[in-house]
Amino acid sequence: MSENDSDLESELGFSPENIWEEIEDEKQEEIFTFAKDYIDFLSSSKTERKSVEESEKILRENSFKDISEYDELKAGDKVYMINRHKSLAAAVIGEEELTKGCNIVASHIDAPRLDLKARPLYEDKEASVALLQTHYYGGIKKYQWVNTPLAVHGRVVKENGTPVDITIGEDPEDPVFVISDLLPHLSRKKQGERKMPKVIKGEELNILIAGTPIDDEDVENKVKTNVLKLLNDEYGITEEDLTSAELEIVPAGKCRDVGLDKSMVGGYAHDDRVCAYSSLRALTEIDAPEKTALVLFFDKEEIGSEGNTGANSDFLLTVYSKLLNKYKGTYNMQEHRIMLDNSKAISGDVSPGLNPSFKDVHDVQNASSLGKGLVITKFTGSGGKFSGNDAHAEYVALIRRIFNENDIPWQTAELGKVDEGGGGTVAKFLANLNIDVVDIGIPLLGMHSPFEVISKADLYYLCEGYRNFLKAE
Ligand code: MN
Ligand code: MN
Repeated sequence: MSENDSDLESELGFSPENIWEEIEDEKQEEIFTFAKDYIDFLSSSKTERKSVEESEKILRENSFKDISEYDELKAGDKVYMINRHKSLAAAVIGEEELTKGCNIVASHIDAPRLDLKARPLYEDKEASVALLQTHYYGGIKKYQWVNTPLAVHGRVVKENGTPVDITIGEDPEDPVFVISDLLPHLSRKKQGERKMPKVIKGEELNILIAGTPIDDEDVENKVKTNVLKLLNDEYGITEEDLTSAELEIVPAGKCRDVGLDKSMVGGYAHDDRVCAYSSLRALTEIDAPEKTALVLFFDKEEIGSEGNTGANSDFLLTVYSKLLNKYKGTYNMQEHRIMLDNSKAISGDVSPGLNPSFKDVHDVQNASSLGKGLVITKFTGSGGKFSGNDAHAEYVALIRRIFNENDIPWQTAELGKVDEGGGGTVAKFLANLNIDVVDIGIPLLGMHSPFEVISKADLYYLCEGYRNFLKAE
C-alpha cells in the first residue's frame, strides 16, 4: 500500500485507536488522580443507599442544596432531590428558560448482588453451622459468588420505624462471610453434569454466618440462637426485625488497580456506578450552562427498572414539576410537556468490552475495547432490537459533533453478535417521555461479576464527555 492510500484510508475510514498512545505524562497523572477519587467513591458505595449518601456529600461540598432549601430557582442555582434514599436528581439551572429543556445524563446505582430472604437465618445441625439464605438480585452467574469474601450492607427497620444500619466486612478488622462451593474431589457427578446456570443453584447460595453454640442447655437451635444473641447485643434487633430489612450481600473489600501499568481498575459494581460518579463529577464542574444540566440516578435497573425508585416510575416527572414550580412560581402541564420535548439525554451505562478469550460472542468490528474511549450504543435490545432503545440518526450526529469538537475519544458497539444475547438500559423509559436519548458509557470486562474491570483512560474521558454534553447549547 502506498503512502497516499494509507492517508486516504485514515481520511475516509473510521477506526478508533487505543487512546493511551496519545496520552502525555502530565495527562496520565490527571487520569490516575481522577481514578483514585473514583476508587474511593466506589469502595464506599456498595449499595444504592450508600451511593446516594456519598453522592449527597459530594453535592453539598460543591454548593448544591436540597430543593426544599430554595424558595425560588434561578439561573446558576445548584439543586438536588432524593427519592426514598435510592434515586437522585441533581441539576445546575441554565441561563436559558427552563422550558427549553434539560441536558440529562441518567444512570443507575443498583447492582447485581445477593439479598437476604425475609426469614434468612437457619441452623444446619449436621454441618454444625448457622447460615443465611439469599435470593439473588439481577443477572448474576451464580458460580462466581462462591468461595469469595463477602460483606453485608444494609438497613433493618424496627417495628417502631427506627432504622438500624449495618455494615460488616469492609474494615480489615471485620469478619467476612462466604458461600462454600463443593470440593473438586466430590463434584464430578454432582456439578459436572449440570449446565452452567445451575453449577450453583439459587437455593445453594447460603452464607456461612457462625459456628459457635450459645451456652444454654434449654435452647434447641444453639448456633442460630447465638447469632440472634450477637445481633441483638450489637444492633438491638430480633429475628422478626429481619422481615423489614434490606440486607445486601456484596463482595468485601476495596476496588483496586489492575495490571502492571496500573492502567485499569477492578472492583464491584462499576456497572453502573462508573457512569453515575462520572456524571456527578461532571455536573459539579459546571457553573453557568446554557441549558439546565441534570444528572439522574435510578434504582432497580438490574431488575427491569420497576418500582417507585426505578426509571419506569414518575420520578422524573416529579423532578420536572418541582423544578418548574420553583422556577416559575406556577406550574402547568403544557410547560411541563414542552420542557420534556426539548430535553436531550444520555443514558449512561456500561458496554461489554471485547473479551480476549471469548471474542466469538462479539462482532469484533461492532464491539468496544478497553482504552478506546466512550462507547456510543445507538441501539440496544435483543432478538431484533426487541424492547430496546434506538436513537435517531440526527441525535447521534449531534452527540458525535459534541465529542469531536471537544476531543473526546469514542467508539461504537452493540451488545454482542446478532442473536447472541442482548439487553437494555434506562434509555427507553426516557424515550417514552419524548426525550431524545442514546446510550453512552465505557467498556467493561467481567460485567455483573464480583470484580469488574475498566480502563482509567476511558473513565477519565467519560467524565469529560458527560461534562461537554451537559453544558452543550
Ligand atoms: Mn447491569
Ligand atoms: Mn448497567
